[in-house]
Amino acid sequence: MSASRRVTRAVNAVLEVAPRHGAVSLAGLVHGVSQDRGRPIEVKMADLPPGVCGQWRQYSDRDVFLIQHGLPTWDRTLAHELGHLVLGHDGIPVVEAALERTELASLDLIGYMLNQRTGCMGPGGEDVEQEAEDFAALLVYRLGRLPSDRASIVQVRLGEAFG
Ligand SMILES: [Zn+2]
Repeated sequence: MSASRRVTRAVNAVLEVAPRHGAVSLAGLVHGVSQDRGRPIEVKMADLPPGVCGQWRQYSDRDVFLIQHGLPTWDRTLAHELGHLVLGHDGIPVVEAALERTELASLDLIGYMLNQRTGCMGPGGEDVEQEAEDFAALLVYRLGRLPSDRASIVQVRLGEAFG
């Protein structure tokens, strides 16, 4: 795996906003990024359409990362969605997200439409999906290599990150 300079820079930027003291967790990094941008980021578990691991929704006043319930690699998915955000990929506008409340059929349809941007690994390795994946792999890897006095909460399994 060789992440592009753009991805490497984004990971560096995120690690720079990490709290200076105490353990650095992925959640801590997300919080740091939200403070840096002056926009709250909420992380919620949700029942997303089958095959979708995570979704980034942009509201007028905040960003929301939805993570599929019961996902064993939720931290990786969270890092992936954070990657979309810091790399400037588009999230899901709130209008579309609001539609899902109307009826199940809409939810299914929207889920289908969104799949191409929110799959675990976008179909055909779509560029932005690949970039977000590279970001997630590098961020999780770097988190796991921080000095032990900043013991990371993220358990990095190299085989998983680079396999
Ligand atoms: Zn994605």
